[in-house]
Amino acid sequence: MSVQRLTLACQKKGRLADGGFDLLKRAGVKLAYGRDQLLRRAENLPLDLMLIRDDDIPSFVATGACDYGIVGENELYESMERSPRLADLEVALKLGFARCRLKLAAPVDGEIQTVEDLQGRSVATSYPGLTEKYLRERGIDAEMVEMGGSVEVAPRVGVADAICDLVSTGATLEANGLRAFETVFESEAVLIRRKEALDPSIDETADLLVQRFEGVIASRQTKYILLNAPTDRIEEVRAVLPGTDAPTVAPVVGRDDVVAVHAVCTEEVFWSTLERLKAVGARSILVMPIEKMMA
Ligand code: ATP
Ligand code: MG
Repeated sequence: MSVQRLTLACQKKGRLADGGFDLLKRAGVKLAYGRDQLLRRAENLPLDLMLIRDDDIPSFVATGACDYGIVGENELYESMERSPRLADLEVALKLGFARCRLKLAAPVDGEIQTVEDLQGRSVATSYPGLTEKYLRERGIDAEMVEMGGSVEVAPRVGVADAICDLVSTGATLEANGLRAFETVFESEAVLIRRKEALDPSIDETADLLVQRFEGVIASRQTKYILLNAPTDRIEEVRAVLPGTDAPTVAPVVGRDDVVAVHAVCTEEVFWSTLERLKAVGARSILVMPIEKMMA
């Protein structure tokens, strides 16, 4: 039986593409060079990438043009709000990058300061589906003014009273004299698929890919810690190490009073963690990234 190739929809260029290609690379996917602007073939897996605009990814997966897709939750749920055809899409895995928030914002010193103030007003947004749903659930009836981009200029030019737009740092809002007052939706990149079972060989490739993505995501915040600790303070050191259950303790040549501790930490290691380790007597503390993980 011939092995069918899995087609994965990815953004051609942009924030999702950056994170998506990085994830695929870390998951060991090697892309062949090719002139094709739409399809990129993987050399070492039965996998092809279809490179399209992120807005098109949910419908490409829903219609079967692609088997899986990497897209922002904002785009996924907005598309689902607009088109009932997309109801059989599901999230296979949250990918932990392209994190952003869809926020309502209005002129800093204007009349709109809360969600309630939007009653009977207009909101410019590229996400009318998500925005209207959020407001409707709170009993607010506002007019949606759909815009493809540069939403932040809408209040200044009189196109709408407020906006609802993606925000990460808030610098764009500030530069346009706007203040965010409500978060409508929190988003990150996700791997999507149709709910139905696929061809067994495609499912097999998908399982492998999901497992590798999980490994990459887990290894991102997992660190390997090495340190020396006073023999009689190991328990205190252990209590400070985030997300470790069984560190390895090894002797240090020529020192009875000191041991070497090696531990895998599954939670983020902050500077404050190192300072607390030092305070309980740890010395020569090294924090190292983990490249790959498999349970
Ligand atoms: P396309 O040409 O594919 O339509 P685009 O302009 O719609 O591109 P990008 O700006 O690359 O898309 O954003 C793609 C996705 O990245 C967004 O839908 C969102 O999920 C996420 N994103 C957007 N802005 C930010 C941000 N400031 N920080 C992190 N992620 C973001
Ligand atoms: Mg887009």
